[in-house]
Amino acid sequence: MSGFATLDDVGDVRGKRALVRVDLNVPMQDGRVTDDTRLRATVPTVAELADKGAIVLLLAHFGRPKAPSREYSLAQVSDVYRSVLGRPVHFVDWEGDEAAVAALEPGDVAILENTRFFGGEEKNDAAVVKRFARLGDFYVNDAFSAAHRAHASTEGLAHLLPSFAGRAMEAELKALEKALGDPERPVAAIVGGAKVSTKIDVLKHLVAKVDHLIIGGGMANTFLAARGIDVGRSLAEHEMKETALAILEAAERANCTVHLPYDVVVATQFVPDPPSLRTCNVHEVAADEMILDIGPAAVEALADVLKTCRTLVWNGPLGAFETPPFDAATDALARTAAALTQEGSLVSVAGGGDTVAALNQAGVADDFTFVSTAGGAFLEWMEGKELPGVKALRGA
Ligand code: ADP
Ligand code: MG
Repeated sequence: MSGFATLDDVGDVRGKRALVRVDLNVPMQDGRVTDDTRLRATVPTVAELADKGAIVLLLAHFGRPKAPSREYSLAQVSDVYRSVLGRPVHFVDWEGDEAAVAALEPGDVAILENTRFFGGEEKNDAAVVKRFARLGDFYVNDAFSAAHRAHASTEGLAHLLPSFAGRAMEAELKALEKALGDPERPVAAIVGGAKVSTKIDVLKHLVAKVDHLIIGGGMANTFLAARGIDVGRSLAEHEMKETALAILEAAERANCTVHLPYDVVVATQFVPDPPSLRTCNVHEVAADEMILDIGPAAVEALADVLKTCRTLVWNGPLGAFETPPFDAATDALARTAAALTQEGSLVSVAGGGDTVAALNQAGVADDFTFVSTAGGAFLEWMEGKELPGVKALRGA
């Protein structure tokens, strides 16, 4: 991979202490981990290093603690992590950590306490970077999801220790590079979700990069309204009119075709299967109706667009997918993208919290080329920004 070292370059690690930044920030309810996806993502790197005889020290944050407390202790995660990893896992508190680490043996794995128990972690404070660096002989960053933050454990350490991308980081960067760095053309991007205002930078970056920009969700309503279409009571940001028009103009200059829906699914109440449900042309939305999904004719046309494309990047659902039947368009287009990917004609990369939930709901997440669970980092990458954690690895 271009620009940084991976575990292939790390050499003989036997008896060496690896400081590995991972994402252990799992959702919890009543003291139980409700989704272990992030834990599973760390296994290839941790198992590889442990098998090669390194002393594997895991650095991670958990929640947003204001001060050290049991509520935010990573000790809560170590039991589940042990079963996910399938080998013993030590837990090391920040008190007496050096002695505890010195007692570990080659092949041992330990979770260090929450990095955010140090106030300087988020400030990338030099003293905290040094405090962490003392514990390790080399640094591995395997947390793409935290790479948009320049913290001591995500960025600072790469300047003090020999640094390597872990396997999950490597896979994520390769997939993203394939999708937007140097993609096979034509490239389509789907941008949906609630609001234009949260994704202006994404839209601006994409119009210059892709051949087709497909706009859905509440976002499409804002664009339709900007073009003078009456969207009734739909979620729309009317104050974003000038921004939306500027994006459409930029797309035209860049030869990027923007696809807005010509039919939509509307209702007067936002509830499951509302009696007022109907499908209509975008010009026929009544004053008391809300657009809650893009329509079937639009979906069919978009499926035809995807069939001509070689690459797809997707962020944001096309409708209010949590409330049926407003998941229909997202579901149908996701299934088309998945089928094209399986046929080998499309490279498909998707990301974003709600997008991942929607693809899981459609049952097709595994059929995409790559689905990123890194919410904020994925969006910043879609904005064309270089993530500080990745940049530091590159410079190391
Ligand atoms: P992601 O988390 O994947 O980046 P967003 O958070 O931007 O996606 O957007 C997801 C939200 O957008 C969902 O809660 C969905 O219900 C909402 N949404 C999509 N289309 C509409 C619509 N037409 N009206 C209201 N909400 C919508
Ligand atoms: Mg979201």
